[in-house]
Amino acid sequence: MSVSDAMSSMKSLRPAVFFDRDGVINEPPSDDQRYLRSWEEFRFVEGMLDVLAAVKTRGYVTILITNQQGVGKGLMTIGQLEKLHESMQDRLRESEVPFDAIYAATGLAGEDPRRKPSPAMLLEAAEDHGIDLARSWMVGDHDNDMRAGHGAGAGTIRVVGRKSVSVESDHEVRSAGELASLLERVLD
Ligand SMILES: [Mg+2]
Repeated sequence: MSVSDAMSSMKSLRPAVFFDRDGVINEPPSDDQRYLRSWEEFRFVEGMLDVLAAVKTRGYVTILITNQQGVGKGLMTIGQLEKLHESMQDRLRESEVPFDAIYAATGLAGEDPRRKPSPAMLLEAAEDHGIDLARSWMVGDHDNDMRAGHGAGAGTIRVVGRKSVSVESDHEVRSAGELASLLERVLD
């Protein structure tokens, strides 16, 4: 590749906002449920569609990055997970805010190298979609989301919820409304 080709391909890299799923995009499963297996069990967090719209308006790629080891444990099938995500995307399409891509790690903790806290899925997405990680953000409610974001060289935003916090993040928010106003300030 010539220097000018390399420079133009660098310029064409786009920033992204990576979103964790449970506890960020949708209400997390209860302790009894542990895993959401169907669209019927899925409830968007109020205000999140507005957040996705604000991110897309600014030209950022939106990518869902989710650990779903319920598949690895045999508690749901990959087909059920994909069907849930198709229904979610259908609903988001109605509001013109579907995710540009979805990455799910379905193997067991300790066995699946793509699973957060590894940044592997963010790096995969960056490769697949031409993403500038240094200008990107990871939004999550778990220490593992913050570790994955740090590991990929992205900024980190914690949605403070029921999960305990021991890893630092660049920003903390407590609602979708707070997340929307933060993103208005920090996105280009
Ligand atoms: Mg979560």
